[in-house]
Amino acid sequence: MGETMKALVYQGPGVLELEERSIPMPKDREVQIKINTVSICGSDLGAYRFASDRFAPPLVLGHEFSGDITMVGENVKDLKVGQKVTVNPMVLCNDCFFCRRGEGNLCGNRKSMGTAIGGTQTDGAMREYVTVPDWMVVPVGDNVSYEAAAMLEPCGVTLACAKKGMTEDEKSVVLIGAGPIGLLIVKFLKALGVEKVIVSDILDTRLKKAKEVGADEVINAKEEDVVARVKELTDSYGADRVIIAAGVGSSINQSFELVRNGGTIVLVALMHEKVEIDPMEIVGRGLKFLGSYMFTSEMKEAAQMLADNRLNVEDLITSTYPLERGKEAFDVLNDPQNTEIKVQIKL
Ligand SMILES: [Zn+2]
Ligand SMILES: [Zn+2]
Repeated sequence: MGETMKALVYQGPGVLELEERSIPMPKDREVQIKINTVSICGSDLGAYRFASDRFAPPLVLGHEFSGDITMVGENVKDLKVGQKVTVNPMVLCNDCFFCRRGEGNLCGNRKSMGTAIGGTQTDGAMREYVTVPDWMVVPVGDNVSYEAAAMLEPCGVTLACAKKGMTEDEKSVVLIGAGPIGLLIVKFLKALGVEKVIVSDILDTRLKKAKEVGADEVINAKEEDVVARVKELTDSYGADRVIIAAGVGSSINQSFELVRNGGTIVLVALMHEKVEIDPMEIVGRGLKFLGSYMFTSEMKEAAQMLADNRLNVEDLITSTYPLERGKEAFDVLNDPQNTEIKVQIKL
């Protein structure tokens, strides 16, 4: 047995154990990356809370990460030892109808790092080293911090969502849910030039942050009538587009009340509850209802924005823990009273 490394292994809801694993070596067309920073995603936290086929244990979580290339396998082109990188965590088949069209996010044979999607565990990055195929690697500029680079995967998700269903004459967008994903969407909506971004959430700390990152109007849904406020802010017609970044089923029916006739609703939250809707709302009002899942080119676009100083994401990082105390980070996030936005694990 070769050298070993530390890995934080998910063994089921509430259980994360530090284990010694052998260091993976790069095969043909693979690189080995020494992990520097891993961000904890809402889906990692979901795995920690509830048992799910998508996260069947034993599994190393973590799909938002950065590090340096430490080894390259045979036939790797364009990547070098010492390069600062992040990784698109989608392990695509590169052969199906969707992959060939450049829509890998729709690939039905997809596996994904840090998940058991596709029926087998694909270990993620909460460990000292990973190996990945070279085509999954996204190099980042030297001026981009490891912390920011470890946010590029959610940047890809949120930039794709911010663009989804956008029209040229769009004036107003309502965003429901100002968690880490929602806050990144606010940043991208403003970067894309949306005139009025209205954010609703139930936590004042998040709404304050939403304002700081560019929201034009914020509404606390616990204290105010969201529908009335949005109507007031949109000449009584409703918003051109409503983006749902909160996993609460009731936000679907609320979005029908917030969107204007002919407007667009975009669902990005991974919602696991069944919701009853009135289909006449969609037909009779000519609405568009879109799902936004992962991204195609947007992770690279966001990497370029970071390199060009057109995007700042470090203001969303609120705490950092060493790998040895990774479980503590999950416990903090699991507390409903927590005021964290993005928590990272630093190796
Ligand atoms: Zn994520
Ligand atoms: Zn495919």
